Order: sequence, then C-alpha cells, then structure tokens
Amino acid sequence: MSLIEGRTGSWETVIGLEVHAQVTSKSKLFSGASTEFGAAPNSQVSLVDAAFPGMLPVINGYCVEQAIRTGLGLKAQINLISVFDRKNYFYADLPAGYQISQFTHPIIGKGEIILDLPDGSSRTVGITRLHLEQDAGKSLHDQSPNETYVDLNRSGVALMEIVSEPDMRSAEETAAYLKKLRAILRYLGTCDGNMEEGSMRCDVNVSVRKAGDSALGTRCEIKNVNSIRFVQQAIEYESRRQVEILEDGGKIKQETRLWDTAKGETRAMRSKEEAHDYRYFPDPDLLPLKLDEKWVENIKSTLPELPDAKKARFIEEYGLKAYDAGVLVAEKPNAEFFEEVAANRDGKLAANWVTVELFGALNRAGKSIEESPVSAKALGGLVDLISNNTISGRIAKDVFEIMVETGKPAADIVEEKGLRQVTDTKAIEEAIDKILAANADKVAEYKAGKEKLFGFFVGQTMKSTGGKANPAMLNELLLKKLKG
Ligand code: ADP
Ligand code: MG
Repeated sequence: MSLIEGRTGSWETVIGLEVHAQVTSKSKLFSGASTEFGAAPNSQVSLVDAAFPGMLPVINGYCVEQAIRTGLGLKAQINLISVFDRKNYFYADLPAGYQISQFTHPIIGKGEIILDLPDGSSRTVGITRLHLEQDAGKSLHDQSPNETYVDLNRSGVALMEIVSEPDMRSAEETAAYLKKLRAILRYLGTCDGNMEEGSMRCDVNVSVRKAGDSALGTRCEIKNVNSIRFVQQAIEYESRRQVEILEDGGKIKQETRLWDTAKGETRAMRSKEEAHDYRYFPDPDLLPLKLDEKWVENIKSTLPELPDAKKARFIEEYGLKAYDAGVLVAEKPNAEFFEEVAANRDGKLAANWVTVELFGALNRAGKSIEESPVSAKALGGLVDLISNNTISGRIAKDVFEIMVETGKPAADIVEEKGLRQVTDTKAIEEAIDKILAANADKVAEYKAGKEKLFGFFVGQTMKSTGGKANPAMLNELLLKKLKG
C-alpha cells in the first residue's frame, strides 16, 4: 500500500476497475459478421449491426461459452439464468439507439483474482461481476475537417465487461491486477488482451480517503484508458488532484473524466448529475439465457492449467521461489519455454538462466520469447554443460553471449574456444603455486591475519587459467595451501 502524504495527514487511494475485454470470436455477439481487426471501414456490418428495422439478434453460442470459460477462470459464480437488457442512449455510432447489455442479471457473478506483487507477496481482489454486451461503432473525427465519419465494423462485437470491487490501493496494485487479468484471459484464449488494438480497455474508478478511514470517498471515473502505463499515470495524477481539493476544504464531485495522454492529466468530461438515465429494460427480442449445468461442467473440464496453479506447481516441482515462479507464469509462452529448458534438469538453475540471462538479452534486443535467438533446447544444452561441470557459471555467461550472437550450440562454442573447465587437481595446484610464489608479501600478510586477501588469490589464479578453473576446486585447494 502506498500512501500520499498531504498537509493534513496521510491519504489512501482506492481503485476499482471496469475492464472491457473483447471476446476472441470470428463473428459478432448477435450476428454472423466478421470481427477481424483492421478491415476497411463498414466492410463487416450485417443488417443487424446496422440496426435495420425488423432485424432480429441471434445469440452467438461461442461467445457465451467464452464468457463461461472466463467466469470459471476467475473462480466466479456462473449464473445459469441471465438476461439481456437494452441500455438506451443516443449516439452517432450506435445505430439502434441502444446497446444490448446485461444489467440486473449478468451471466457471471462474484469471483476473485490473486495479485502477485513485486515484493513476492500476494493479495486478493474481488470480482463483482462479468456481463456480456455489444460494442458500439466508432466515430472518426480526424478524416475530414468538418465532418465526422462513422465506422460500424466494431458495432455488435462481443465484449465481456469485468467489474472489480474497489479493492486496489495503489497504481502498482492496479497494474498487477491488469497484468494478471490479461494473463488469465490469454491462458484461457477468451480475449487476446491486446490493449493497443483496443481489445482490452479500461475505466478506472479512483477515490481517496484519510488513512484509517473505513468509509469510501467519492469516486471519479476515468474512461477508456488504453495502456497499463497510462492507467498508472492517471491514478497517480487523479489521486493527488483529489487530495489537493479535499485539503483545500473542497468536495469531490462524482464525475466522468478523461486521461489526456499529451498533457499527463485527467480532465472533466461529464458530471454524474448530467449522466445518462439509460432506461434499462429486458430486450424483448431475446429470451433469458438459460445454461445447461452439464455444459458448464463440460467447459470446466477443458480449462487449461491457469497461472496460479502453474505457479504453485513450479514452486513444488522445480523448487522455485514464489517470485521467480510468478515471473515465469505471467506469460504462457515464457512458462512453456522454461518447462522445456527445465525438463530433466536442475529447475532452479534453469529458472535462473531463463529469467536473468535470457530475459535480459531479449529485453536488450527488444525481442519477444517467440523471436528468441536461443531456443529452449539450446539453452538446455548450456545448462547441461554447467551441471556436468564442463564449464563454470562464469564462463557460461560468455558462452551464452556468443550463442545469442551466432546461434551456435553451446557445446560447439566451448570446444572451438577451448573453454572447458579445468578440473585437473594438479593443473589447478600448479596455477595456485605460481600465484602464491609471485605474491609472497601478500601471503605473509594473509597469514598474519589479513584474511580478505583470499579473494585476491582466487581472482589472480582464476585469471591465470583464463577463468577456466573449477571455482569450488580452486577455493578448496587454495585454502589447503594457505593453511598448510
Ligand atoms: P457505474 O456504472 O456507475 O460506473 P459500476 O458498478 O459499473 O458503476 O462500477 C463501479 C466501479 O467503481 C467498480 O469497479 C467499483 O469497484 C468502483 N468503485 C465504486 N465505489 C468506489 C469508490 N468509492 N472508490 C473507487 N472505486 C469505486
Ligand atoms: Mg462505470
């Protein structure tokens, strides 16, 4: 928890999110039109999506299944009966004059998400509900100086609105929530979680209260923020803005605000008093949605292993620390890569090489794991050379760098460059003798009690062997010689 220190004391930030996640589906929620991203404007619009009179919506069973899968993944209650309502409002990109959504009876009820925080601890955030709804079209204001164009390709695309409890207490926790939610959606394959393409958008509700208060403060809602970084910036800005108003003796007006990316500030959009009265009522074109319990059970039996379960298994099976396991399971391709490296090998060593060296190299090159210049098999080969004492961990780092550059197998690099570790006792003893003889003064100092010189002798001997002496043997033999 991070508090804001104001003039009048400490303040706590409270955050709740409404996330709109686009269902990964080839066709829309109530029509057969395509949902493919990037198509020419208005090329994917059926008569239903354009709200022609007399057109009837037909529910897409696949989208319903994805909502159920997501609900199960959020350990949430699946409501066997839910109702589609009309949410009425007028907007140019909403041809029907209403959006089909779910209000009083959503398909998914209460669930939870466990956050893995950077300090290794975890925290549970409540999910209030998940409901299915249609996306609206898109108004294009930048195509002409004096006209607004409308693109209805997105009109009718299936969205899952996932509402959280006001359980988050900082920008970092909120980022962790979004990352975890996105990971779960991606593991399930129900939403691609791509915020740049708008398949995951989020409304951020922020309020502040004096540290220790139990009542919630009045919230502002920041609409449609489209990256995790912007969500964090918006929370930082908005919470400080609210604290300043309250400390000046003012009141927070409940309102909808916008995040201005260029200015780095939130701006009022509309107040709650002028907010819409949506006049929700059950859509007469659609019957209540009744789910067969067996179908739900069936879907449950096909769920993949999700991040939390995978994390627990990595800790148990490979002996990883909670933090490392959390890092590895955060993205499914990373977890799969790790398991291939770790198979029949030292899991901790494998995790270390994947999370430190490989992720570091990928980061520097700006590459994803799919584009890794070193395959899981090749990295496994390097780990083997460390485990069977062919090379030391130190030399392995150099070998790894050459692997990244050349794509050659570790074993070939070791042979070509003659990097095999020296494990021959005699050879190491000879190297030590030379160093001790050349530094008789320091040996005397060491024997007189200056024990930290030990590191100096190790370093010099290691250097004289080109870094190839087996470190454990070198230490042991050196100690013997100095004591003897
Ligand atoms: P609305 O449609 O009016 O925005 P919802 O119930 O859909 O209402 O969403 C409310 C969201 O605001 C939830 O995510 C909830 O956790 C959050 N929220 C409610 N009260 C507060 C508060 N005082 N501070 C921060 N977030 C809040
Ligand atoms: Mg809202």
